[in-house]
Amino acid sequence: FHSGPPKDSLTTPNHAPGLPAATIPGERVNATFVTLARNSDIWEIAKSIRHVEDRFNRKFNYDWVFLNDKPFDDEFIKVTSNLVSGKTKYGLIPEKHWSFPDHIDQDKAKKTREDMHAKGVIYGDSISYRHMCRFESGFFFQQDLMKEYEYYWRVEPSIELYCDIDYDVFKYMKDNNKKYGFTLSLYEYIETIPTLWESTKAFMKEHPEHIAKDNGMKFLSDDGGNTYNRCHFWSNFEVGSLDFWRGQAYQDYFNKLDQDGGFFYERWGDAPVHSIAAALLLPKDELHFFNDIGYYHVPFTHCPTSEEDRTKGKCTCEPKKNFDWKGYSCTSRYFDMMGMQKPAGYEKQMD
Ligand code: GDP
Ligand code: MN
Repeated sequence: FHSGPPKDSLTTPNHAPGLPAATIPGERVNATFVTLARNSDIWEIAKSIRHVEDRFNRKFNYDWVFLNDKPFDDEFIKVTSNLVSGKTKYGLIPEKHWSFPDHIDQDKAKKTREDMHAKGVIYGDSISYRHMCRFESGFFFQQDLMKEYEYYWRVEPSIELYCDIDYDVFKYMKDNNKKYGFTLSLYEYIETIPTLWESTKAFMKEHPEHIAKDNGMKFLSDDGGNTYNRCHFWSNFEVGSLDFWRGQAYQDYFNKLDQDGGFFYERWGDAPVHSIAAALLLPKDELHFFNDIGYYHVPFTHCPTSEEDRTKGKCTCEPKKNFDWKGYSCTSRYFDMMGMQKPAGYEKQMD
């Protein structure tokens, strides 16, 4: 895969009519925002876009790709293209990326949905949620509209950004050789992934060549890889390298998982799938914690821990709502693994 030429810089403004040009000069990275959404998500994604534009993208004018398993309607396109300062592109997901693979046993998949529904597992009975998780795991980076880009930032409906981001996040990723960036981490519900780790271990045995030296296994497992501790990066926010997902290592991992069928026989989420891959297939120094990006997706908040960072970013989040140091977060494990020092004031946010 070869990435295309560098995107427009300030000298060739690339912004919607009526919106000011990018205020921060310099070369742009070959990057885009990406949102999977339904037409009915229009007003919730409109709010997300405003957060992203106001805090970051009005200064940089990056493109935004919207993807949907049904065609976007005129209203969705009109409203979103009016809000985004960069180019907007709208893609229809091919059916093979949003359907049951032939090898899936429909009766077995149905039984799973009924059992999970009875147990009250969130989205346990949903077929579309499973297609969504499989799509985000295996196919968003393969869409035609995504092929020209090197980096992406995933944005969901109803998210909020709490702090100004005055530097180019994509350039930061590229210049520092980062492949996967996150803001929140937590434990997955075991009911949704009972055999994901078995499949992962089988993959590791089959493909030892794909497991990175100095990987992030310590984030995932407390016993050297025997069992999964359920820690994952929350994938409704991601800034990452598309070439990583398209590379042989991840392709082999995804295909193994898809073959094992857990997207349908269980309810494997794209968050644990991406996280396990990022932690095992990348050296851990290619991961990045975006402390400076204050972020909300129901029900969790990431708010920069230290007052200094919140002041610098003109943040509007309430410090004690920061999830990082609470019991259900995995971020302190991440800090331990990386040998990073916890920021000043973290003790005050533990409960
Ligand atoms: P949650 O964050 O896990 O509760 O799940 P969401 O409902 O936010 O869905 C995750 C993402 O997938 C969001 O960007 C949704 O807009 C999108 N999404 C979920 N289901 C569908 C669907 O059936 N079709 C499309 N096109 N997008 C979907
Ligand atoms: Mn969501």
